Amino acid sequence: MSQHRFVIVGGGLVGLGSAYRLQQAFPDASVTVLEKEPGVCRHQSGHNSGVLHCGLYYKPGSLKARMAVTGIRQMVAFCQEHDIPHDVCGKLVVATTEEEVSRLKDLHQRGAQNGLEGLVWMDRAQFREIEPHAGGIAALRVPQEGIVDYPAVADTLARLIQSRNGRVVLNAKVTALRQNPTGWVAETTAGEFHSTFLINCAGLHSDLIAQLTGQPRQVRIVPFRGEYYKLRRERQNLVRHLIYPVPDPKFPFLGVHYTRMIHGGVECGPNAVLAFRREGYKKTDINLPELWDALTFPGLWRFLARYPRMCFDEMRRSFSKQLFCASLQRLVPEITIDDLEEGGAGVRAQAMNPSGDLVQDFHFVHGPHALHVVNAPSPGATSSLAIGQEITSKVTAAL
Ligand SMILES: Cc1cc2nc3c(=O)[nH]c(=O)nc-3n(C[C@H](O)[C@H](O)[C@H](O)COP(=O)(O)OP(=O)(O)OC[C@H]3O[C@@H](n4cnc5c(N)ncnc54)[C@H](O)[C@@H]3O)c2cc1C
Repeated sequence: MSQHRFVIVGGGLVGLGSAYRLQQAFPDASVTVLEKEPGVCRHQSGHNSGVLHCGLYYKPGSLKARMAVTGIRQMVAFCQEHDIPHDVCGKLVVATTEEEVSRLKDLHQRGAQNGLEGLVWMDRAQFREIEPHAGGIAALRVPQEGIVDYPAVADTLARLIQSRNGRVVLNAKVTALRQNPTGWVAETTAGEFHSTFLINCAGLHSDLIAQLTGQPRQVRIVPFRGEYYKLRRERQNLVRHLIYPVPDPKFPFLGVHYTRMIHGGVECGPNAVLAFRREGYKKTDINLPELWDALTFPGLWRFLARYPRMCFDEMRRSFSKQLFCASLQRLVPEITIDDLEEGGAGVRAQAMNPSGDLVQDFHFVHGPHALHVVNAPSPGATSSLAIGQEITSKVTAAL
């Protein structure tokens, strides 16, 4: 029997992907996932766009680029093996101005550098054969991208982990972490759990969990809410697959887009609004201690001072359906305000450093007998099995 006892905090896709990969590498180890909610996948992993990203956007050589490229292959293979609904339908990134055309050309190059095959540059007549209602002047077709049922991926991972004698303990909120000579003891609302190695995949709370082990909070999680509308049924024919804008390279957010969902319907969004609560899915959600924590972080003020316009515009668009609709019309001009129905929301766990920079890449912090995943935003869901593999090799090296 292996002496390794791995405890993973967080039952989102990154925590579950890590537990799954650790079990593959250490078949005799004890693997326990601790999740504070009554089910897995209740936060970012279950409140996202459901898109399989293939590595178009990310800086060549970055972890995001590497793990999106390998991650999408692993995720598609996993879905095929376990019969999880998915569809590699491809997407269009649409440029609507000459300036965007130039940025789209850069993206095209970046995608090629990241090893993506089959990217096709299209003029208006060509891309309108694929998406007849798309506006714009040029587009890049990305054939590898697709859509998937991420909650089904999470449920399958949880089932597989448990079938190999791993544990997924629900309603187990980690409230304290105590070091002992062999590792960490996690104190939770479901009792104590002993580990020889702790892996922190707590998403929106990952900086706070790291702090419980004595790590300084050099980078902090800043929550950015992403709100969606849905296209009403009669107008869903306006979007066949995925239609994305050319993103602003300053921000790690992709801009509001159209996503055909794996179980039907078309989602429009998400925007990126600073949230007043880490799990603040509604505009009115405020958590005073969390808000105070954010407001006393100099990084946030520096960010606000650097991008006042962006933050203000996002806030206005959040409250104005008309402005939201105007952003969507750039991609599909025929959309009208009456076509949009209220949709859901998700909150991104985005790490920010004290200088006010958003941490662009996936980010891990090592501690004694511990590894903290401090930044795993999009494409973290697509990449979750690849991140699990990366974590497994980091843990193996640290043992
Ligand atoms: C609006 C939006 C759209 C996105 N779209 C996409 C997309 O289309 N494609 C893509 O690849 N990625 C997308 N992403 C990113 C993707 O969802 C995340 O990268 C991924 O889900 C991160 O997974 P995670 O396991 O790190 O975090 P989470 O899913 O948030 O899981 C963290 C878990 O930790 C638990 N936890 C926290 N604190 C504690 C504690 N004290 N004790 C026990 N448990 C705790 C939480 O309850 C939670 O379940 C999107 C994200 C958002 C928000």
